[in-house]
Amino acid sequence: MTAPSSPPDVLRAPLVVEFPFTRSLGPVQSAFLTGLREGVVLGVRTAGGAVVVPPVEYDPVTAEEIRDLVEVAATGTVTTWAWNPAPRPNQPLDTPFAWVLVTLDGADTAILHALDAPGPEAVRTGMRVRVRWAADRIGAITDIACFEPHDGVAPTGDAAGAVPHDGVFADAVTGIVAEARLDYTYSPGRAQTAYIGGLAERKTIGERCPSCHKVYVPPRGACPTCGVATTDRVEVGPAGTVTTFCIVNIKAKNLDIEVPYVYAHIALDGAGLALHGRIGGIPYDQVRMGLRVEPVWSDDGGHPDHYRPTGEPDADYDAYKELI
Ligand SMILES: [Zn+2]
Repeated sequence: MTAPSSPPDVLRAPLVVEFPFTRSLGPVQSAFLTGLREGVVLGVRTAGGAVVVPPVEYDPVTAEEIRDLVEVAATGTVTTWAWNPAPRPNQPLDTPFAWVLVTLDGADTAILHALDAPGPEAVRTGMRVRVRWAADRIGAITDIACFEPHDGVAPTGDAAGAVPHDGVFADAVTGIVAEARLDYTYSPGRAQTAYIGGLAERKTIGERCPSCHKVYVPPRGACPTCGVATTDRVEVGPAGTVTTFCIVNIKAKNLDIEVPYVYAHIALDGAGLALHGRIGGIPYDQVRMGLRVEPVWSDDGGHPDHYRPTGEPDADYDAYKELI
């Protein structure tokens, strides 16, 4: 997908960031998810008498611990909604649906879920819905497959209330794996597209602010100080000056570099701010502020693998003190 305002020549790339993690549930969430597996919706009653569904472990107002479990109905009322015309992978339904907040009968708060409806014209605030249970339930929020429209009227009187529940089930669910995943298309934009294209030719391209004349490397497309677009492309380097540095003593996973090594801020000649790079070709304890360095390009040429000393005399402090 290309936004209408994007120039056709900017880079785009798919990015996926995944961080699945395992969490334990504690007594309240364990009871809630195990209840879903058994076809029961549980909430909690606060000291003030409000019924919170999905349940929380601490009172949202007083922060008091809550353990007073109650069962609410699997029917409820839509309190607000938004139509989702193009479901993404792993969303509750693979056909267009409504995201809804539903206050279940007996609850005082709403639960977020999907509503299976033929179109947005079939959805309205105040409509009655009921839980559609998943065929195979495992003790997860997905045990509620979705909500579906329901003809019944809202219960009143005693029938509308939540009833106490001990929350005890055989084979309670005690943990879940939360599959956090971001799957998106990234475009670095016009300025960084030119920067990356330059790196492929072993050139470092910055952009100069037309107002303050600072040269940004990598370019950002705009000067954050002056708030104006930067359009004047400038090749900087290749050599530069170490403005400050640190010695790294911890070996990073998947990084085949012996420790200790030095990671530095390097002001390339002509640049108005320093970029980051590893210093090689010199013992770590001989790296110093003012050291003159040049890039050693990676085998694929797409970026400097590290920077090594040029052999020139060190830069005078006054030459780089504004760039630290
Ligand atoms: Zn500026």
